Amino acid sequence: MSPIKLAIVGVGKIVRDQHLPSIANNADFELIATASRHGTVDGIPAFTTIKAMLDAVPEIDAVSLCMPPQYRYEAAYKALSAGKHVFLEKPPGATLSEVADLENLAKSKGVSLFASWHSRYAPAVEAAREFLAGTTIRSMRVIWKEDVRHWHPNQEWIWQAGGLGVFDPGINALSIVTHILPRPVFITAATLEFPENRDAPIAASMTFSDAKGLDLAAEFDWRQTGKQSWDIVAKTDAGEMVLSEGGAKLSIDGKLVHEEPEQEYPMLYRRFAEIIRAGRSDVDLAPLRHVADAFMLGRRKFVDSFYD
Ligand code: NAP
Repeated sequence: MSPIKLAIVGVGKIVRDQHLPSIANNADFELIATASRHGTVDGIPAFTTIKAMLDAVPEIDAVSLCMPPQYRYEAAYKALSAGKHVFLEKPPGATLSEVADLENLAKSKGVSLFASWHSRYAPAVEAAREFLAGTTIRSMRVIWKEDVRHWHPNQEWIWQAGGLGVFDPGINALSIVTHILPRPVFITAATLEFPENRDAPIAASMTFSDAKGLDLAAEFDWRQTGKQSWDIVAKTDAGEMVLSEGGAKLSIDGKLVHEEPEQEYPMLYRRFAEIIRAGRSDVDLAPLRHVADAFMLGRRKFVDSFYD
């Protein structure tokens, strides 16, 4: 089968860290163009706008959109309208409605739309889902605390409206939680902490429940220095489950039961090829819906100004 001719839009940190190596090692894809105002990839024809790229390289089959979420809809609309398959970095957009619109457009054009959630492909996530499917869950705690200065130095868009603030990493936790739990959950209360000089939260605490009264709480915080925490802890009738390091390791009652090398982006590209070949889309908006609900239901608290 001939490779899917791919273009990347928004050549920045995640493209260099993850997309380029994953594409280079996947025979299903051939990178043939990029569109970015400043970023380029050695040896690949580069354009500064998606329109110029689509006009100049009509053989493009698929486009990965890796710019910040506030700027993704317009590019996705152009790519889908031109009949290209589209891979959306997470979060898939700045609003739920714009992504729903893209989903309809993809359907009407007969192309695939992929709302990627890389953390769902962390090594131990499937094992956690299988473990929880066979248990009664008594409670679950999600602790996602990291140092924003280390992980997002000088990234202005992340602090702007629509950049999601601490929900940019927090939505990764929500993508895992919504995948491993046996039933849908919903937010019951939330508090969002906004630095006085920023439009997006630096911390958030939320409680959730489900139809059977699940006790679920999540803490996201960007002010964590020292040890970083990306953990999901569930107390169940079959023991205490700890899914740690962002989904990399699974322990039951303190015993490590699952650990494998990380393969999140290679698996995302495998999945993208699979849905393109199958002629379907993969758009689960549950993680983004919870973020929207937190903004809708959450109390606002103003905290000290934040400077990088
Ligand atoms: P980034 O490096 O700050 O941005 C990616 C590129 O987008 C930039 O290099 C820039 O390229 C383009 N861009 C920035 N502002 C733009 C604007 N106003 N209009 C059009 N293009 C703009 O961000 P990133 O860390 O790669 O993150 C991008 C997306 O990937 C986010 O949704 C993020 O949540 C997701 N992601 C990031 C990570 C991570 O570790 N960083 C991990 C997983 C997912 P040009 O200046 O060349 O146009």
